[in-house]
Amino acid sequence: MYPIGVQAAIPVNRIFSGVAVSFVYLAPLNTITTQLDFIAREAEEKEAENAAFKDFVRALPSDEVDTLVLRLSNEVSPQIDCTTCGNCCRSLMVNITAPEVKALAAHLQTTEEDVKERYVECSSSGEIMVLNSIPCHFLKGNSCSIYEHRFTECREFPSFHQPHFQGRLFATFMHYGRCPIIYNVMEQMKQELGFFK
Ligand code: SF4
Ligand code: SF4
Repeated sequence: MYPIGVQAAIPVNRIFSGVAVSFVYLAPLNTITTQLDFIAREAEEKEAENAAFKDFVRALPSDEVDTLVLRLSNEVSPQIDCTTCGNCCRSLMVNITAPEVKALAAHLQTTEEDVKERYVECSSSGEIMVLNSIPCHFLKGNSCSIYEHRFTECREFPSFHQPHFQGRLFATFMHYGRCPIIYNVMEQMKQELGFFK
């Protein structure tokens, strides 16, 4: 894993004038970018490009899109360390379930009522529950303080492993400027699909 804020670098040996020189270069293709300020700027600058890309992807065969997104996610995600990023935790609205409230109460050694009162917003019917704070209460620095006990939605974000990616284009691009995994997968997808040609 590469720490957030550092581009993936590839060590290379080259020979100059008969002398072996060991150096590092930043790969021009498939380079992993994790600098959050750069990604945020890219989101602003590429607004029109990304709108066109969404239309482009919607016109492709759904199963082929899902296969490509899953493969790129599997390539990109292991190179990004979510435990030192936490940027999605500053903007996500996290839905949670009754069993998750129960499990969190047990972990925090308190009651479910206490968890609900302090951390949860319930719909009037009580059926829908979301964490009541953005950024999330449990984000400490860049890390989740309940990482082993985090909620299903946190674990699944950005959900590239789920089918029918085309139906989640809007939600995915809402986080394009904040999430290095989304940013890198989408940029590599543009390259592989020849979107720039
Ligand atoms: S519970 Fe943890 S992973 Fe989920 S949003 Fe909060 S800080 Fe992030
Ligand atoms: S899912 Fe994205 S925004 Fe969230 S911690 Fe991982 S890289 Fe950062």
